[in-house]
Amino acid sequence: MINRRKTLKILAGLPFIGGMAASALITKPSGAKLERPKYSRDFFTELGLRPFINARGTITALSGSLMLPEVMEAVNYASQQFVSLNDLQDRVGERIAEMLNCEAAMVSSGAAAGMTLGTAACITGDDREKIRLLPNLPGPEREVIIQKTHRFAYDHAVRNCGIKLVEVDGPEEMEQAINERTVMMLFYNAASEHSVSKVEFVAIGKRHNVPTFNDAAADVPPVDNLFKYTEMGFDLVTFSGGKAMRGPQSAGLLFGRKDLIEAAKMNNNPNADSIGRGFKVNKEEMLAMMVALENYLGRDHEKDWQEWENRVDRIASAVENIPTVETEQYVPAVANHVPHLRITWDEEELEVTPEEVREKLRFGHPSIEAAGGGNSLDLSVFMMQPEEVGIVGRRIREELTSG
Ligand SMILES: *Cc1c(COP(=O)(O)O)cnc(C)c1O
Repeated sequence: MINRRKTLKILAGLPFIGGMAASALITKPSGAKLERPKYSRDFFTELGLRPFINARGTITALSGSLMLPEVMEAVNYASQQFVSLNDLQDRVGERIAEMLNCEAAMVSSGAAAGMTLGTAACITGDDREKIRLLPNLPGPEREVIIQKTHRFAYDHAVRNCGIKLVEVDGPEEMEQAINERTVMMLFYNAASEHSVSKVEFVAIGKRHNVPTFNDAAADVPPVDNLFKYTEMGFDLVTFSGGKAMRGPQSAGLLFGRKDLIEAAKMNNNPNADSIGRGFKVNKEEMLAMMVALENYLGRDHEKDWQEWENRVDRIASAVENIPTVETEQYVPAVANHVPHLRITWDEEELEVTPEEVREKLRFGHPSIEAAGGGNSLDLSVFMMQPEEVGIVGRRIREELTSG
């Protein structure tokens, strides 16, 4: 048990919301207790933080995903011995390329770093002078072509390299936009609209000898996506390591054409005079990423899917029979392609809005992070621990019936 002084200190660390101290919103424990592994120190509590049940999915700012014990074994193994970082990157990359049936691969510090390194590789090749000068190369500004509908926050990771993004709409414009300054074409796999299909995109790149890059960071499951895009002919592909694959949150995969992966490594740490020096990946993360991928490829994906559907059903049953409440399972088409639960109700009847329920879950015991807010409460179940599913169902029921 924590004493009162400690409790006050913990509460003091919480943010203010709408002028009210968040501490005022935290409700009394409802009896639900989270089972967590026992350690000699409870660091998060010491720091005044409240860990939460993750019903939002693999959100970076919420620390992404939890690593499995076999992944942690790789972290611990690596932490006890020295090894050449470059050699480890090479060997781990070979193993990953074998697993993914592609020419070459590397572990980056995440998909965003993979995007910067891949772009850098397309600009510099193995030219050490250009690698040193990036992002301020002499001569005309290099260009990366992107579909208008594919502009997204993460294209900053490509703009980092000092290039100009050229926006196009449709295959004709894309082909016309190619010139001697073009260094790469960027595809956003999860974009809701494609004016150029993947097949057309790759074909145009090949026809003009311009490398094509697909950012598919959040796009497993399905597991096949790890193989599909290089098979289609994309020259570079990146995935986050710390989303559904449950590798380190600070790791990702960049893979594809061998010459480009070699160039990406030259632009990467540990080389001091490189654009990627700040994207450090240590031996623990490299090894852990390899093991996370092994584990992910070896999983029974159908069984995982059934477990997630089962969780959706259990939470849905916990709130059924509440007047006006309706539940629906949904699966986003690309990215976070896993079963979710959407709960809707008549706000006047139950005297509570989805946004209010979200807040009450966040400040309740234990804390639960849910999605949605507007017209519905949305839950992603794949990042929950099995024993948390019942707690989430019960807490939502409590909040929907307290009005
Ligand atoms: C999450 C994400 C990224 C960034 O991935 P990190 O591994 O966190 O660097 C890039 N692009 C898309 C589409 C993403 O969803």
